[in-house]
Parts: sequence; structure tokens; C-alpha cells
Amino acid sequence: MLKGKIALVTGASRGIGREIALELAAEGATVIVNYNGSKGKAEEVVETIKGSGGVAESFGCSVADFAKTEEMIQYIIKTYGALDILVNNAGITKDGLLMKMSEADYDDVIDTNLKGTFNCVKHVSRQMLKQKSGRIINMSSVVGIAGNAGQVNYSASKAGIIGITKSAAKELGSRGITVNAIAPGYIDTDMTQGLSDTVKEKVLEQIPLRKMGTTQDIAQMVVFLASDKGSYITGQIISIDGGMNI
Ligand code: NAP
Repeated sequence: MLKGKIALVTGASRGIGREIALELAAEGATVIVNYNGSKGKAEEVVETIKGSGGVAESFGCSVADFAKTEEMIQYIIKTYGALDILVNNAGITKDGLLMKMSEADYDDVIDTNLKGTFNCVKHVSRQMLKQKSGRIINMSSVVGIAGNAGQVNYSASKAGIIGITKSAAKELGSRGITVNAIAPGYIDTDMTQGLSDTVKEKVLEQIPLRKMGTTQDIAQMVVFLASDKGSYITGQIISIDGGMNI
């Protein structure tokens, strides 16, 4: 479905981003696997893609860094001549109750999740406007819609991503660029592995489908939105959460 397309997936060394990179490559896209600290894991993703006959390369840079993200995106455009699909997936949590949350923990989460999304959307927009086509898919969260105790920083970042998504969809739509967000519920990755069994049980009680989601559940929607099948969908926040937010 994506033969000849050039895709950048941020935070693709692990978890949801890794699965998105694999699925996009399986559909024929050339994938740039962005990472921050996990160089070895990112290279393993690239090797897995190449091993299945796909095309990929890794690029290390923090999405929180405005200048470095510009460098990464310019490199992709110079090397491949286009950038068709941007998946803003990189994200971190630094949880804590509001009263105890440090300024640094607030800033780190906002800088990576929210400013990181802005940085990448901004830097790809010129190229996509020139191309008169493009797909941008941002990773929000159920918590960006409903809020969550202990996650003021994270939920603010994920709610902000919804704002970026809707505004950018309005700005860029007339040039054939779609901008959507996915709001995952609880997905089985490193990010949720640290939760205690008691917390996990409580979370499962709130999910009508009574199970955590998988990285594939998210990656398949990304492929759909990036393909021709998703061409008339823009500015939408698509919940993939087992019904958690009904
Ligand atoms: P994860 O397993 O913790 O992986 C996070 C990824 O983000 C890693 O590849 C990491 O790369 C990358 N990353 C972190 N900081 C970065 C930075 N400054 N620059 C570039 N990359 C950076 O997380 P996940 O569960 O797959 O989550 C992926 C996305 O889905 C996040 O935006 C998260 O908020 C969102 N989400 C997840 C869930 C869930 O239940 N898991 C639910 C809702 C939303 P390095 O390892 O190289 O640092």
C-alpha cells in the first residue's frame, strides 16, 4: 500500500514506534528509524526491515531539539528527495502527583512529547506543502482526552498534541496534507511495564474489552491513515483503547 513512500517514525527503536516502522516497511515504504538513546535497538529494527527485503536507516536525534530535528528532516529530503509520511511517536513519562512534580519533570515531558511534535511538524511542512501531499500522524493518548491523576505533565502534552493536530489539519488541508492523531489506551510496552499488578488490574477493570492493546493495534491504524484508504480523513483523534474512553 505504501510502495515508493518515504516515512519518518520518531522514537522507533522500541515499543509502538518499532512496530509502526516494521508495518510501514512491510507495506513498501522506506523508513527512517529515529531514536534518542537506544542506538543498538534502532539498528536492530533497521536490520529486521532489511532482512525482509525492505529499505530503512536509523537516525539518532532528540525530537526535543529544534535544530537537530531540522537537520534530520533536511537530511531525509536531500537523500530521498521527498518526505511523505511523518509519524510523531516519540514520547516519555515522568509521573508524579502535581504537588510533588518538579519543574524539570514537567519541562522534560512537554519538551519531548509536545515540542518534539511541533518541531517535526514544522520542519516537514515546507516539503509537504511543496509536494502538495503528505500524511502526518501524531501519537496522543487516552490521557490527553480524559486526564489522569499523577500525569499532569503527560496529559498536558498529549492534550496539546490534539491541538496541534486539529490546527495543522486546518492549515495544511488545502494542499492535500492530512493530519490525524491516535489516542492509544493501555498498550503493552516498556512504558506500561513498570506499572504494579494492582494498578494493571484496576486499569483492566475500566476497559470494556478487558485486555491491554498491542503495538500492532496501533501500527495497523497508522498504515491505514498513511495509505490511500485514509485520504479523506483529517483532523481526527482516533481512540484505540478497547473502549476505555466511552
Ligand atoms: P516506549 O516503549 O517507552 O518507547 C518510547 C520511544 O520513544 C523509544 O523509541 C524512545 O527512544 C523514544 N524517545 C523518547 N524520547 C525521545 C526523544 N527525545 N527523541 C526521540 N525519541 C525519543 O513507549 P511506547 O509505549 O512505545 O509509546 C510510544 C508513544 O505512544 C509515546 O508517544 C506514548 O506517549 C504513546 N502512548 C503509549 C501508550 C502505552 O500504553 N504504551 C498509551 C498511550 C500513548 P530511545 O529508546 O532511543 O530513547
